Amino acid sequence: MKKIKNLIVGAGLSGAILAERIADEKKENILVIDKRNHIGGNCFDYLDKNGILIHKYGPHVFHTNFEEVWNYLSKFTKWNYFFLKPRALIDGIKATLPFNLNTLYQVFPKSMAENFEKKLIEKFGYNVKIPILELKRKDDDLKFLANYIYENVFLNYTKKQWGLKPEEIDENVTARVPIYISRDDRYFQDKYQGIPLNGYTKMVENILNNSLIEISLNTDFRDVKNEIDYEKLFFTGAIDEFFDYEFGELPYRSLNFDIQEKEVEYYQETAVINYPNNYDFTRICEHKYFLNQKSNKTVISIEYSEKFVLGENERYYPIENPKNKNLYEKYLKYSKSLKNVYFLGRLGDYKYYNMDLTVDRALNFFENQIK
Ligand SMILES: Cc1cc2nc3c(=O)[nH]c(=O)nc-3n(C[C@H](O)[C@H](O)[C@H](O)COP(=O)(O)OP(=O)(O)OC[C@H]3O[C@@H](n4cnc5c(N)ncnc54)[C@H](O)[C@@H]3O)c2cc1C
Repeated sequence: MKKIKNLIVGAGLSGAILAERIADEKKENILVIDKRNHIGGNCFDYLDKNGILIHKYGPHVFHTNFEEVWNYLSKFTKWNYFFLKPRALIDGIKATLPFNLNTLYQVFPKSMAENFEKKLIEKFGYNVKIPILELKRKDDDLKFLANYIYENVFLNYTKKQWGLKPEEIDENVTARVPIYISRDDRYFQDKYQGIPLNGYTKMVENILNNSLIEISLNTDFRDVKNEIDYEKLFFTGAIDEFFDYEFGELPYRSLNFDIQEKEVEYYQETAVINYPNNYDFTRICEHKYFLNQKSNKTVISIEYSEKFVLGENERYYPIENPKNKNLYEKYLKYSKSLKNVYFLGRLGDYKYYNMDLTVDRALNFFENQIK
């Protein structure tokens, strides 16, 4: 039987950062296993035959206001300073997203757009994000605008993304989508934004580059758990799977990516275009934009949202609602009865984390519970 001090399940961001912290600060041995044939978890990217870096599990743009998180990752990568400026196909027009003052002029006749712009600035000021629910409470013009954004940008996209019927969508929740009273076309306004200059996989490889860290790929915890004698276990896989679905399955939304090579220099005008109202897919991503790569070919991925079915596809988004939270809490409570077994990451915590929150969670977990 293999003897090891720390076993980490999952070589995604959560597992890699935890391994690095334990190795660097505590100088202890760690074995990191992953059932996939690569490190990086869902941030994994790879160079295709044309030299274009492909985000295998969907477009990943790093953004954060946490200086500590930015500084931590910057020890392992240089950055391509990148701002995501997506568009959405609305009424046949590829319009700026999030909906802002520029979008008004793209989708409405000029006089109408001017009227909306004037009213919005008068009522709310400039450079503010106003939930469309709040617009709906205002006069008729702004109510019309709120309904337009709700129906054309949000409703059908949400239906596709989450596989819901319109009546299942809670309008109060969905109406939190904002209109941005600004001409800033960036999707995020965070202080730090970028793409690792040599890709996410290289960044994670650098994080894991420590002689105290051993990595074993193509290794599922379920197959090896009786062969490894560990003192501490850190599990970044699915918490319900760990407990053999004792209380039932935690639901997830899954995705399917149709990755296609195109014989053109550029396929679309920007990295990500959403299709709220047309087609069955939700969005198309063109990968060469992320690192501004040059090639006379290009690669796109067409993203479809689908139900997660155990054994058939991958877990992507936890479906966070009170019922599922309750179920997760049962697992969490149960997990506390185990000694020296810890859960974290998007699957272990059953929580959607952007990458910066994943990093923050792993750093804080180490500081508060392990150090
Ligand atoms: C489509 C999509 C787009 C995203 N875009 C962005 C973005 O633009 N910006 C942003 O900040 N964040 C984005 N994210 C979030 C980002 O992917 C996560 O924050 C991050 O990947 C979480 O890392 P993790 O290590 O917790 O989980 P994961 O990356 O899922 O890693 C968990 C690892 O555990 C392994 N594992 C699971 N079970 C087992 C087992 N039984 N045995 C062995 N190994 C196992 C898995 O194979 C996996 O490699 C996006 C997420 C998705 C789904």
